[in-house]
Amino acid sequence: MPSKKKSAKLLRCPACGMLVRVGEEDFPFCSDRCRKIDLGKWASGVYRISSPVLDPEVLEDLGNLAGGQSKDSNHD
Ligand SMILES: [Zn+2]
Repeated sequence: MPSKKKSAKLLRCPACGMLVRVGEEDFPFCSDRCRKIDLGKWASGVYRISSPVLDPEVLEDLGNLAGGQSKDSNHD
């Protein structure tokens, strides 16, 4: 779908939200400063998406460990 419009495509700077023209020197950032801000965020882990997933089974295991002896251990 090559629709060649004259109007430049604008996207928002991921760092500050300012409109940036596609193809700008610092695209997708509006400026070198924002590029560095964004890099800093990555470095400091702001963008880390993965959160610790605690599924019920794991929690149960942890509970058993914390509880020490379980009743089932002496079923003989
Ligand atoms: Zn920006």
